[in-house]
Amino acid sequence: MANITVSSDMDSLAADLAVVREFLDRATPPQELSDSERDRLLRQIKELMQSRNAKLVAHYYTDSLLQDLAEETDGFVGDSLEMARYGRESDASVLIVAGVKFMGESAKILSPDKTVLMPTLEATCSLDIACPIDKFSAFCDQHPDRTVVVYANTSAAVKARSDWVVTSSIALEVVEHLMERGEKILWAPDKHLGSYIQRTTGADMLLWDAACIVHEEFKSRGLKAMLQMYPDAAVLAHPESPEAVLNIADVIGSTTQIINAARTVPNEQIIVATDKGIFHKLQQVAPEKQFIIAPTAGDDATCRSCAHCPWMAMNSLQAMVDSLLNNTNEIHVDVELGKRAMVPLQRMLDFAAENALRVKGKA
Ligand code: SF4
Repeated sequence: MANITVSSDMDSLAADLAVVREFLDRATPPQELSDSERDRLLRQIKELMQSRNAKLVAHYYTDSLLQDLAEETDGFVGDSLEMARYGRESDASVLIVAGVKFMGESAKILSPDKTVLMPTLEATCSLDIACPIDKFSAFCDQHPDRTVVVYANTSAAVKARSDWVVTSSIALEVVEHLMERGEKILWAPDKHLGSYIQRTTGADMLLWDAACIVHEEFKSRGLKAMLQMYPDAAVLAHPESPEAVLNIADVIGSTTQIINAARTVPNEQIIVATDKGIFHKLQQVAPEKQFIIAPTAGDDATCRSCAHCPWMAMNSLQAMVDSLLNNTNEIHVDVELGKRAMVPLQRMLDFAAENALRVKGKA
């Protein structure tokens, strides 16, 4: 009989979310720019990138200005692993990563000889925060019979403690593979994604207790009400969303899978349960369709129910200028730690290549 357990021998999710709320209260959101100021900053960034042989790699959840800038300057827009792989294959001397900190770390692990800069090092992730290495390592030690599988949204130290790193679109295949080998799994950190994988595969999984503050806010009740207003709409959801939301979804997938589905589903109206930063790309790939953000929990919810990651929003043009000018916010990963983190990352890449899968993931 398959086993699914959410670990309780750690700080509660409520305590983690209190940390997030506290962060949000003191964070300064990027300032609104006038057209002339925006154009001046864009020119300055392009000049700096050219003089430093730098390329911009931006996540789908970042500001549309940054996504456009990355594409205009022959950089890259994608999910976290695609960003890191682009960085490894690029001949740039400097990679500027617009996203959150674990993405910068992954880029550095895969490209240790390149300079990796970020507009801000304060941009983190609730999953990363809620999975500190000391507690996670102790948890692993308590369950030595389990194979440790971690989501890409973790620190380099947590990756180095794992057997496998996975992204959301390859997680099902990796867990099925491990299940066929008779292995029991310790999964971290996202409990909703872990639970979705367990329900789908039937694997024996012990789950760490953490969640994405953006996806956790999507609510099934509001979604049902929205479907009464848009009865012909398709629902596309990221598997970090709660189970009740996934039960209503027509397509469940990573950011890249959602973008592909937006192209291929016949529906003209599409309700999307993931960070609304993705709408920029969705409108590009299917301009004839109407995209509607799935309803969230209301004013009292974490993340202020904006369906937008507050850390992704910290990547501003001015911060990019400062980083490129002063070499601030450089990502450093200890060389030995990076080598250890590379092992489970490479295991995933090899698995994907052997199984002819395209490894796609999300934040
Ligand atoms: S959207 Fe969620 S998973 Fe992605 S970086 Fe933000 S908090 Fe982390």
